[in-house]
Amino acid sequence: MKKVLVLEDEAGIRSFIAINLRRAGYEVIEAESGEEALERLAQHRDIRLALLDVMLPGIDGFEVCRRIRATGSNIGIIMLTARSQEMDKVTGLMTGADDYVTKPFSPAELTARVDALMRRSGGDAAEESAELVQGPFALNTRSHTLSKNGRPIKLTQVEYAIMKLFMENPDKPLTREEILDMVWGQDYFGEVKIVDVNIRRLRLKIEDDTAAPTYITTVWGLGYRWQA
Ligand code: CA
Repeated sequence: MKKVLVLEDEAGIRSFIAINLRRAGYEVIEAESGEEALERLAQHRDIRLALLDVMLPGIDGFEVCRRIRATGSNIGIIMLTARSQEMDKVTGLMTGADDYVTKPFSPAELTARVDALMRRSGGDAAEESAELVQGPFALNTRSHTLSKNGRPIKLTQVEYAIMKLFMENPDKPLTREEILDMVWGQDYFGEVKIVDVNIRRLRLKIEDDTAAPTYITTVWGLGYRWQA
């Protein structure tokens, strides 16, 4: 059965969610604190989706989300937010999550969102995951966002395309021509130098030490290699 974790500190809301998800055919694992949620996730490796309340005593839902992603997990994550929370802040912190539902919500709305995310995030293994997670980096291919250790990194469309290419080809040296073809397209007539310019800027954003890059390394006489 498809397992869902429900993290919510208010018992009434938690059982309301659990009852409705069970009725919709899900197996529900409940947690009332962020710490407990992380324990349950470690115990139940087959949990496919987590509903995380944001407002909790102890570590909050965003922190739980960050810690889940930091383990390299790509389970579906839906944040449960309160209408009073500023949406700017919520979406800014959303990088690791796939969706959010605003309280109060109807059972139908909630199960529809869970069903939809369940379908997208790995109903079958062949389905493309929405998130590439490598080392401290998570690249969301739906929202085109990158985060490092849970912190969002602002990328241009070209930088995003380069990151996606790298993360789809880990440890593989790519020539500058290959990068140019894949990112700019084969009908691009500019100079291959544009690749170096963008890599230099990307390094400033993602490397710990730009003077000694470890994620994007230069392969002399060839091009670049991604390792995370
Ligand atoms: Ca709460």
